Amino acid sequence: MITNTQLQRFPTKEQESKYQAICHAAKNKQKEKYPAPVDPEKRLGYAVVGLGKLTLEELLPALSICKYSKLAALVSGDGDKARKVAQQYGIPNTGIYNYQNFDDIKNNPEVDVVYIVLPNSMHHEFTIRAAKAGKHVLCEKPMANTVKECEEMITACQKADRKLMIAYRIQYEAYNALIKQWTREEKYGKVKIIEVYNGQNLPGPNVWRAKKSLGGGGALPDIGIYCLNTIRYLLGEEPTSVLAHSFSTPGDARFREVEESMLFQLTFPSGALAMCGTSYGTHMAKSYKIYADEGYYGLDPAFSYSGLQMHVSEQLDTKIELKQMPTIREEDQFAVEMDHFSECIACDKQPYTPGEEGLQDMKIIEAIYQSAYEGRIIKLDYYTEQDVFRGTDPIY
Ligand code: NDP
Repeated sequence: MITNTQLQRFPTKEQESKYQAICHAAKNKQKEKYPAPVDPEKRLGYAVVGLGKLTLEELLPALSICKYSKLAALVSGDGDKARKVAQQYGIPNTGIYNYQNFDDIKNNPEVDVVYIVLPNSMHHEFTIRAAKAGKHVLCEKPMANTVKECEEMITACQKADRKLMIAYRIQYEAYNALIKQWTREEKYGKVKIIEVYNGQNLPGPNVWRAKKSLGGGGALPDIGIYCLNTIRYLLGEEPTSVLAHSFSTPGDARFREVEESMLFQLTFPSGALAMCGTSYGTHMAKSYKIYADEGYYGLDPAFSYSGLQMHVSEQLDTKIELKQMPTIREEDQFAVEMDHFSECIACDKQPYTPGEEGLQDMKIIEAIYQSAYEGRIIKLDYYTEQDVFRGTDPIY
C-alpha cells in the first residue's frame, strides 16, 4: 500500500511545472546581466516556523526579493502576531499554523519547503515533523543540540526523500566567497594562521539563549559556530584536532547554565592553524584575518548581514602595502540562500550546506566542549578530500 508520505515524494503536475521554470531560469542566470525571477506562481512556497527577530527582520523581507522562492505560510505559537504578519504579507488565514496543528501542513500544496527558525532545541522535532509531512527542510544553525539529533534529522529526511539544508548564510555571501576563492587558489600564498572572533553581549538571563535546554550551550553553538563553519568553508578542509578553554564570570546570572566565552584552536591537514574566540560577554565584534606567507587578508565585519569590509596587506618588493579593498556588489545573503535551496529542489541537486555539513559542525562542537572540560587536545576524524560534506556550489 502506498502511504500518504510516499505519494508526496512524487511531484504533482503543478510542482513539475514550477521545477522546470526554476531550473530553466537557474541554468541561464550566469549568462544574463540581470538574471530574471520566475513568475510568482512558479516560485517554491516557504512556510516559516517561528516569528522571532530573525524571521521578522530578515527572512520575510528577503523572501519578498527572492527569484525562485516566496512566502506561503506562517507557523507560530502566537495567533494574534501570526494573523497580523499574515495580513502584512498577503498570506490567507488557511496558511497560518501553530505548533500543535503544524502537521496539517502536509495538506497544503502551496508549501514546498518548511524553514525552521525556532530555538535550537526545537530544530530536531520540527525537521522530523516537516519531513513526515512531505516537505523539504531548511533549518537554521546550529542544526540541533547533539550529534544524535543531527543524525536523526538526516535519516528522517532521507526516509521521506526530502532535501535538508542548514542555513549557513555566510556560505552564500559574496565577500566570503571571494575570500574562499583567494584562499583556495593561494593568491597570497599558503595559509599559515587564521584568527577569528565572533562576540556580543547577551541581553539578560531570561532569554532562551541563556537556557541550556533550549540553546544547547552558550556562545559556542550560537555564534562561535560562525568561526568554526567559516574557517572550514574558506579552507575546504576539516580540522584534525581541537584544544579549547572556556570561562564564565562567576555571579553573572546570564551564565548560570551556559558558557560565556570559549577559545579554541584547530589544526588542519594542510598545516593551517586557527585561533577562534567567541563570547556572550563582550561588545559586538565579528572579524577574521588570514595570515599567508605573502600577505594577510580578511573581513571586519565578517559575519554581519550587510556592510562587510575587506582588508588586504601584501608584500610588494620590499615594502608592505596595506590596502582597503573596493566594495563589491552585495546581495541579500538570506535571499541567495533560499533561492539556492529552491534551485536544488527544482533541479534535484544536493544543497551546498546539507544536513551532513551541520552534523560535522556539531561533532566538532561536542569535541570542543570535551576538550575544555577535560583540558586536553581531542583528535578528530581525518579527511583528505576537499569540501567533503558540501553539495553543489552556489557559484557567484
Ligand atoms: P527569537 O527569540 O527572536 O525567536 C524565536 C521564535 O521561536 C519566537 O519568537 C517564537 O516564535 C518561537 N518559539 C517557540 N518556542 C519558543 C520558546 N520556548 N522560547 C522562545 N521562542 C520560542 O530567536 P531568533 O530569531 O534570534 O533565532 C531563531 C533561530 O535562528 C535560532 O536557531 C538561531 O540560532 C537562528 N539565528 C540565525 C541567524 C543567522 O544569521 N542565520 C541569526 C539569528 C538567529 P512565535 O512567537 O512565532 O511562536
